[in-house]
Amino acid sequence: MKDPRKVHVETALAQGLGRMDDQFKGVIPGIHPSTTYEREPDGSYPNGRVYTRDQNPNYDQAESMLSLMEKGEGALLFSSGMSAAVAVFQALMPGDHIVAPKVMYWALRNWLLTFGADMGLQMTFVENGNLDDVKAAVQPGKTKLLWIETPANPTWAVDDIAAWADIANSVGARLAVDNTVATPILTQPISLGADIVMHSATKYLNGHSDVLAGALITKTNDAFWERIAKVRNAGGAVMGPMEAWLLTRGMRTLAIRVERASANAMQIAESLQSLNNVESVLYPGLPSDAGYEVSASQMSGGFGGMLSVCIKGGAEEALAVTGRLELFKRATSLGGVESLVEHRASIEGEGTPCPQNLLRLSIGIESASDLIDDLKSAIDG
Ligand SMILES: *Cc1c(COP(=O)(O)O)cnc(C)c1O
Repeated sequence: MKDPRKVHVETALAQGLGRMDDQFKGVIPGIHPSTTYEREPDGSYPNGRVYTRDQNPNYDQAESMLSLMEKGEGALLFSSGMSAAVAVFQALMPGDHIVAPKVMYWALRNWLLTFGADMGLQMTFVENGNLDDVKAAVQPGKTKLLWIETPANPTWAVDDIAAWADIANSVGARLAVDNTVATPILTQPISLGADIVMHSATKYLNGHSDVLAGALITKTNDAFWERIAKVRNAGGAVMGPMEAWLLTRGMRTLAIRVERASANAMQIAESLQSLNNVESVLYPGLPSDAGYEVSASQMSGGFGGMLSVCIKGGAEEALAVTGRLELFKRATSLGGVESLVEHRASIEGEGTPCPQNLLRLSIGIESASDLIDDLKSAIDG
C-alpha cells in the first residue's frame, strides 16, 4: 500500500498498514505459533529471530500500528496493561522519585504503594488538574518520572499533558501518559510533549472484551526505552501470538468504534443531566465540567466513551440502579462494543477516592437512544 504515514490514520488502520501474508498472498497475515527458529548450518539466524519471548512475528504489525497512531519511534506489546505500566517503573532505580495524580487507575496506584515502595521508589501523589501541586512536588535531580492518566478513572478528571510535559522537562524528568481512555484516535500525548504512552490494549485498542493486552510507545529510542525493552525480555510479560493477532484485528476498526462510542457518550451525558435522581454527571465533554477546556484543547474528534453518573443518595441507591438496567452489563472493564456499568467504589475497596454514589459507564456502539431509555427507566423509573 501507499506509505501508511501519508494517509489518514483510519485508512492505515483499516488496511493493517497494508501488511499481507507474503507466502499465499492472503490479505491478512497469519498467526505464528512457533516458539523457536532454526539456525542455518553456519549457525546464523537468517530471519534475525531466535526465540519467541520478544521476537514473535505477530508483534510486528501491531507494534507498527501503535507507533504510527501514537507518532512514536517504537512500541512494545505486553501481556496486560498492568505489565506494560509496571515495566516503566521497573526500569527506574531505587530512590528515584515519581509524581502521579491521586485519581488514577486504582490497581496501578496500589501497585505503586506496595511493590513500587518496596523497590525503593519515592512518590508524591497530587490533586488531579492542579499544576501548582505538580510544580511543588517535583525535585530537580531526584524526580525521574511524571505519570498521568487523562481523563482519569473513574471521575474523568483531566490533566493538561503539555503543561505536565513542561514541568517534567524543567527538572529533566520524563512524562508518561496512560492513554487508555482517550485512545490515539482522540489524543496523541507524544505530540503534546509526552515521552512514553501506555495502553491497556484490553480496552479500546482491542475493543471486543476478549483479549488481555498492554502496550508502551516511546517518543525516542533512547537508553531508557532500551532498558524497558530489557525489562520485558528478561521478565517475559509478553503477549501470545494469538492475542497479538486478535489485537491487530481489533485495531483495524478502532477509529470507527471510538467515534461512535464518543458520540453516544456525549448524547448520554447530556440527557442524564436532567434526570431527577441524578446528582451530577462526570464527563469532560460537558461545557460545565471542570476539565472541559483542557480536554477540548488536547482531544479532537470527541471526548471518549467513558462517563460517570452520581446518583442522589449513597451506595445503596446507586447499586439499585444497576439492578434495574436491562441493556448495560454489570461488569468491570471498559472500551468494548457493549455498554457496561460498574459501582466503582465497591471494586476499589477501602481507601478509594471514588464517591460511593458513583456509577461508571463504559459506553459501547449500540443505539444511543436504546441506551438512554435503559438509563432513564433505571434511574428515574
Ligand atoms: C484496565 C486499565 C489498566 C490495566 O490494564 P489491564 O490490561 O487490565 O492490565 C490500566 N489503566 C487503565 C486506564 C485501565 O482502564
